[in-house]
Amino acid sequence: MAAPLVSDVLPDLLEELVHLLQGTGAEPLEDQLRVLRIESICDCGDDNCASFATAPEVKVASVVELQSIEGHLIIDLNAADQICFIEVLSRPDVRYLIEEYYESLK
Ligand SMILES: [Zn+2]
Repeated sequence: MAAPLVSDVLPDLLEELVHLLQGTGAEPLEDQLRVLRIESICDCGDDNCASFATAPEVKVASVVELQSIEGHLIIDLNAADQICFIEVLSRPDVRYLIEEYYESLK
């Protein structure tokens, strides 16, 4: 089964990320965000964590920290400036949607 698009599972988060990119100098990442797929969910076990990997291999070379109103949103980039991981912390709304999506697959 193909990995789901972030735009399908978390459309509101996607728009939030795009919005928060404005003024950071990392606006070009929008094009990547819109076609990004959730490869796997973070398995750290933290109840506050709703992070997910967006590439089969996660090797973080740099990060874009966004000024989110609620929780923490950080985009992790690999050495090729490809988004490989989205850190989502203290965002129960996002966690709920992810859990609901994977529950619906069972
Ligand atoms: Zn985690």
